[in-house]
Amino acid sequence: MSTLRFQAIKETFGRKPIIVNEPERRSEIFGKNVFNETAMRQYLTKDSFKSVMDATVNGSKIDRNIADHVSTGMKDWAITRGATHYTHWFQPLTGSTAEKHDAFFETVGDGLAIEKFEGGQLVQQEPDASSFPNGGIRNTFEARGYTAWDPTSPAFIYGTTLCIPTVFVAYTGEALDNKTPLLRSLQVLDTAATAVAKYFDKNVTKTIATLGWEQEYFLIDKALASSRQDISLTGRTLLGHSSAKGQQLDDHYFGSIPSRALDYMRDLETECMYLGIPVKTRHNEVAPNQFELAPIFEEANLAVDHNSLLMDVMEKVADRHHFKVLFHEKPFAGVNGSGKHNNWSLSTNTGINLLSPGKTPKRSLQFLTFFVNTIKAVNEHEELLRAAIASANNDHRLGANEAPPAIISVFIGSQLTKTLDELEKVTNGKLSPEEKTELKLNVVGKIPEILLDNTDRNRTSPFAFTGNKFEFRAVGSTANCANPMTVLNAIVAKQLIEFKKSVDALIVDKKMKKDDAIFNILREYIKDSKRIRFEGDGYGEAWEKEAKKRGLSNNKSTPEALKAKVSKKTIALYEDLNIMSKVEIEARYEIKVEEYVMRIQIESRVLGDIARNHVIPTAIKYQNILIENVQGLKVIYGEDFRKLAKEQMELIEQISEHIAKINRGITNMINERKKANVLESTEKRAAAYCDKVKPYFEEIRYHCDKLELLVDDELWPLTKYREMLFLK
Ligand code: ADP
Ligand code: MG
Repeated sequence: MSTLRFQAIKETFGRKPIIVNEPERRSEIFGKNVFNETAMRQYLTKDSFKSVMDATVNGSKIDRNIADHVSTGMKDWAITRGATHYTHWFQPLTGSTAEKHDAFFETVGDGLAIEKFEGGQLVQQEPDASSFPNGGIRNTFEARGYTAWDPTSPAFIYGTTLCIPTVFVAYTGEALDNKTPLLRSLQVLDTAATAVAKYFDKNVTKTIATLGWEQEYFLIDKALASSRQDISLTGRTLLGHSSAKGQQLDDHYFGSIPSRALDYMRDLETECMYLGIPVKTRHNEVAPNQFELAPIFEEANLAVDHNSLLMDVMEKVADRHHFKVLFHEKPFAGVNGSGKHNNWSLSTNTGINLLSPGKTPKRSLQFLTFFVNTIKAVNEHEELLRAAIASANNDHRLGANEAPPAIISVFIGSQLTKTLDELEKVTNGKLSPEEKTELKLNVVGKIPEILLDNTDRNRTSPFAFTGNKFEFRAVGSTANCANPMTVLNAIVAKQLIEFKKSVDALIVDKKMKKDDAIFNILREYIKDSKRIRFEGDGYGEAWEKEAKKRGLSNNKSTPEALKAKVSKKTIALYEDLNIMSKVEIEARYEIKVEEYVMRIQIESRVLGDIARNHVIPTAIKYQNILIENVQGLKVIYGEDFRKLAKEQMELIEQISEHIAKINRGITNMINERKKANVLESTEKRAAAYCDKVKPYFEEIRYHCDKLELLVDDELWPLTKYREMLFLK
């Protein structure tokens, strides 16, 4: 056994669970490190408190004077909680989070120093941002970037640093981050949804989008993970034969949580409590060593921040527990990968979940309005939704019989299907009193308030209605939720704007009653968006054929899928709603395509290295042992050796064949890489990496994995699947 593999395995034997003292009551520590309402009441003057609350709720501006008060209060609070530094915390287009720490400390001459943090430092900063990806925005405009305080997401203390959530924008106004477009989309959605909600209740003045994400991940012992170059450098195993036992017994899902993992989770959850991340659910997932964590849902911007922060906290806490947490969408072949379901809904200032069927016919009609509009929006923009979740990692998952396919469809369950079928029959034009009563009482009125337990579960659907929310299930586990949420908010906002226009037109031009007008438009929408509704098995081949007939897109690879991000339709959508300009859209596309190329390029290099430097030399070593054995047999038995050494000689040949195929595969793959690298356009490069380079991964891996089975276990250099998975 290689020293590295041996050491790594040995190290895990001594591992003891790290027991962390949990506080008696989580509610007592919840939000302790967040500059929330309670902290603000204590540390801010009445005026600045009101000002911040107004900015939080209504998005009003905070003037410089007030900002000085706020920063002082924030600093004083932070210092009492042990903070020494502050940072503008933002989400650059790399998808992770970024921070640069500055001390509160300032010298004031005569060897004296004070703690200082001014309004200006709170409101705006200029990080040296030249190393963040910008998709050419800053080259085009020669502009610098700045970060600006987002008061809708509260400041928090992370370690000893006060973190101020910010947006990251170029001086020319283009967004250089994920948060800015998200905030813009939430604003547009608020306006559009509120206008429609007013049909049903005049008291609605604000609508927010809510998000509850479910984060899946793997926990691998740190020593084992770092003994493998592929995991360290790419986050996944590029080779490795499946363990004899995988997930076929399904004995892990919802099973009792292994004690080391449970101690990790408890520690993690405690950290989350201090940070105000309302995590609630934890359980084993389907694959061995795979787990899930879900919070109570929150306003979408805050939920996105919390998910980004969580992923960072998870890595840090994992380190303490000698784990490496793998967020990769497909870290191990042959076992399920990880996703991040995004549960999404709309909620009004009057406390109503607009996607929750209500008690009264009026509430039910409101529900149907938002429900059908969302379905219509997905129908119109299915390709953009697919693009929003596209990544090299997620390609392994989508359509791999464990995750939703690359085809976007909507699942609503049999009960709501029946309701929509009924509604489709509504008379064209004004409704008769009888029909209205029938509709209100027997169709709309019959939607039970609690569908939650009635909506059949269809795990194969990428976009499912689950009782009082839609669940976008195709999102990858490494994804920043801002992207898919921006798309969803934008398309639903656009749809609601159109809906309102059409309904108003019927009311004004055709003198229809409001309800009649709504029924009429909904009927058309139900008809128009029938093709997107699918209740069957999303994994099946039959669905691929059917979806094609229906004209739904089926973009299997990332380079193909990403194109929808810059289609005319998408640009029109974002520009009309003032969510992103063409430059901002194109920059994001460019970054995604580049990222794809880099990922495949790195994987290709790492695979080549491991196969040539570890696998082939090991195979040769074992082959030499076999050769020695054959020679020895010949010495002892003379010409009779042929019979006795038959199997060994076959093995020797097999090993040579595998080595040859691996070596040839790598040479060809490198040649394809060279060809791809000289292509001028990033788009063409991405296509070449996808279609010409990537196919070699499977081929090379196949032969390496065969060798893993042939070669003496003692010699094999790489930690094996069975050693990494199956945590006790
Ligand atoms: P499952 O695994 O069955 O999909 P979970 O309970 O694990 O269900 O996750 C459901 C997620 O949906 C939780 O994060 C929950 O907070 C969230 N959720 C529930 N209601 C809403 C809502 N109205 N808006 C957004 N998210 C919601
Ligand atoms: Mg779910």
